[in-house]
Amino acid sequence: MILIDGKKAAAELREKLKKEVSDLKTKYNKVPGLTVILIGDLTPSQIYVRNKEKSANEVGLKSDVIKYPDTVEEKTILNKINELNNDETVSGILVQLPLPKHIDKQKVINKIDPSKDVDGFHPMNVGNLSSGYESSIPCTPLGCYLLIKKIEPNLSGKKAVIIGRSNLNGKPMAQLLLKENCTVTVTHSKTKDLKAECLEADIVVAAVGIPELVKGDWIKKNTIVIDVGINKTDKGIVGDVAFDEVSKNAKALTPVPGGVGPMTIACLLKNTIDCFKRSQV
Ligand code: NAD
Repeated sequence: MILIDGKKAAAELREKLKKEVSDLKTKYNKVPGLTVILIGDLTPSQIYVRNKEKSANEVGLKSDVIKYPDTVEEKTILNKINELNNDETVSGILVQLPLPKHIDKQKVINKIDPSKDVDGFHPMNVGNLSSGYESSIPCTPLGCYLLIKKIEPNLSGKKAVIIGRSNLNGKPMAQLLLKENCTVTVTHSKTKDLKAECLEADIVVAAVGIPELVKGDWIKKNTIVIDVGINKTDKGIVGDVAFDEVSKNAKALTPVPGGVGPMTIACLLKNTIDCFKRSQV
């Protein structure tokens, strides 16, 4: 079984991006800039944002974090996004989710200029991805896709089963694999026989949020299994896949932690650089 090392893959991607930023600096005499808006003092969000800033600096991006208390008014955020949309030094804008209840998430996402939407959540990017056009792609499914392609460069005709249909993970993942000519099945909480669906799959991507949902006897030999889940349990952080059981059958499997997670941030940096490059033409 191949243990898919997300930390190593992310480090390799960051190295490649660092070189790219240096080349862009030589060519344009400026570097891509990422601005993150952080609202409130939720600890996980603060940790994510700190890691994003550290990684952005590591590859040479210009990086800013704008912080607001969780009492901030929605219109203050919308005005700030407007300002950033018009700021030439900002290539990518990310508003860290979740937001306080009084702020309308969709209004905030819709306000971000789609060409600076590094999370790929703006409806225009969602539409472009599903139409097969160039777009920003949500970072976690993009990271999963790059890991799958490392194991299996030619995905044409493979049967992929995605567990979970969120806008963040399952749906964009399905679009990415469709584009690669996979036969894609998207399963969810109302799917009748999840085990039977998984047993058909050459690729399984689990993005559910249920600890160790995917069992060893759900996975046939030679399947690539990508575990997106991050679940806090008594025995620590575990994924959506029962790692020990599934590793006996799978061709390749991502660990949790150390699989998909590190790729997510590296893909955010990639998206920022791609937004910058598209803005230069
Ligand atoms: P979500 O809650 O938005 O969506 C979960 C999906 O799972 C839903 O579509 C639901 O229909 C489906 N589901 C629920 N119960 C099910 C069941 N019994 N059988 C089949 N499907 C079922 O979650 P999300 O935001 O997509 O996140 C999923 C997991 O991925 C969470 O554990 C989250 O923490 C993790 N996550 C990890 C990263 C990363 O970087 N590794 C990034 C984002 C999210």
